[in-house]
Amino acid sequence: MSIASKKHITVAEGDGIGPEIMEATLRILATAGADLDIERITIGANVFDQGISSGIEPGAWDSLRRTKVLLKAPITTPQGGGFKSVNVTIRKTFGLYANIRPCISYAPYIPTQHPGMDLVIIRENEEDLYGGIEHRQTQDVFQTLKLITRPGSERIIRYAFEYARRYHRRKVTSFTKDNIMKLSDGTFHKIFNEVAEEYPDIESEHWIIDIGTAKLATAPEQFDVLVLPNLYGDILSDVAAEITGSVGLAGSANIGEEIAMFEAIHGSAPPLAGKNVANPSGLLMGAVLMLVHLGLGSTATSIHNAWLRTIEDGIHTPDIYTENRSTKQVGTDAFADAVIERLGETPQKLPSTLYPDSEEPITVKLHDRPIEVKTLEGIDIFVEFRGEVDDLGHQIEAHLNPNLTLVMISNRGQKVYPNGAAETFCVDHWRCRFQAREPGIVLSTADLIDQLARLNAAGLPFIKTEGLFAFDDIPGYSLSQGQ
Ligand code: NAD
Repeated sequence: MSIASKKHITVAEGDGIGPEIMEATLRILATAGADLDIERITIGANVFDQGISSGIEPGAWDSLRRTKVLLKAPITTPQGGGFKSVNVTIRKTFGLYANIRPCISYAPYIPTQHPGMDLVIIRENEEDLYGGIEHRQTQDVFQTLKLITRPGSERIIRYAFEYARRYHRRKVTSFTKDNIMKLSDGTFHKIFNEVAEEYPDIESEHWIIDIGTAKLATAPEQFDVLVLPNLYGDILSDVAAEITGSVGLAGSANIGEEIAMFEAIHGSAPPLAGKNVANPSGLLMGAVLMLVHLGLGSTATSIHNAWLRTIEDGIHTPDIYTENRSTKQVGTDAFADAVIERLGETPQKLPSTLYPDSEEPITVKLHDRPIEVKTLEGIDIFVEFRGEVDDLGHQIEAHLNPNLTLVMISNRGQKVYPNGAAETFCVDHWRCRFQAREPGIVLSTADLIDQLARLNAAGLPFIKTEGLFAFDDIPGYSLSQGQ
């Protein structure tokens, strides 16, 4: 029994397999003596069904603000149209910027091709394509905004290096696609290089995401801590967990400055729901991370070691069961019983765990940066148009603001005017780039508004615009393919 005072937490039992794995997890926590005062909230499918579009009942927010710790089972998120993800709403509302996902193999007890795998994915948790800012702009075109911010990137990258230092990890790796997304992913990579210089004791490396993913899937032993933008981190942590033996094994912490949420990395697995077959290990490992966060390190140690012993004894749920390595196939409840029976025991072959009784949370401080001088260099105006691009170009050139010139038109990012290739496939969405007609002309917002009005009058209404700015004379916009 822990000697620490009672800790308050909020629990959401989730959807699909959520209630079963939560019940199993809470039973293990209670028997291990985790001194928890639990407030239960309902989020997810049941709340959507009541017509609450956020998927979160109003009282849930108060509970979270009170306890500051949420243990959450997976939530079903409608695919395609419909409601927004409750997970993303909670992460973003409470600024849970760091998603920590350890992925460890347990060979030879759980079959894996990667017995030496022990890595931690640290995923940026608030921005990137998860802003969910989406628009249909024309008959043909749908857009999602990918937002990578300097503070968001710096914060998660600093967190990753601090994490590596705290847990004696030797290397931090980053993956991006900055050969293509030079500004957004390029910023993440640049900040990674800047921060890495402040941690000479920790090795750092960067891979382009495609080959990085291939390496992660085939030689994960060579990675240690990975820090990734949101979407890449989400995808790669499922890959990493699955190649340890099952996506059902990995837990996850979502850390903010005030509030933290703990969960499994997997989803609600609807096909398994209600069958008492789901592996509760991912949620249990999330709960272990929670106990450490709460300062209940000895209870976390006891549960983790009992769990390792259960795995080692071959008591396995169907997702990790194999005839030659397992001794007994069990369901969710019986697996929890097996862990409970082994509380107080340690693994014989797998390395045992020892968490500190309490530890300070990892905090990061962003560095001040001088404000850069921002200058207006032009505007990209997107128009909807069906027809030949030369007609579009000539129409626009007949309606130009005197300070501006039409530099080019692109279609899906490929320059098609002037001098486009006849073979380029085009849709009804054209990006028209306007810049100063000659050097020395200082543009104002009035020039841009006037250009919009001229296009409108010419029957070419705009869909959206993007300002073209330079920051300390460095262009803050990319060239078009072929420009
Ligand atoms: P999933 O992770 O729920 O399941 C995919 C498959 O993995 C399952 O069919 C099952 O074969 C296996 N699996 C997953 N967890 C398991 C476990 N504990 N034990 C044994 N096998 C397990 O992925 P999905 O089917 O793509 O998503 C289902 C729903 O979950 C979707 O609505 C999705 O949005 C949601 N989701 C929620 C979270 C979350 O709450 N944090 C995370 C991911 C997905």
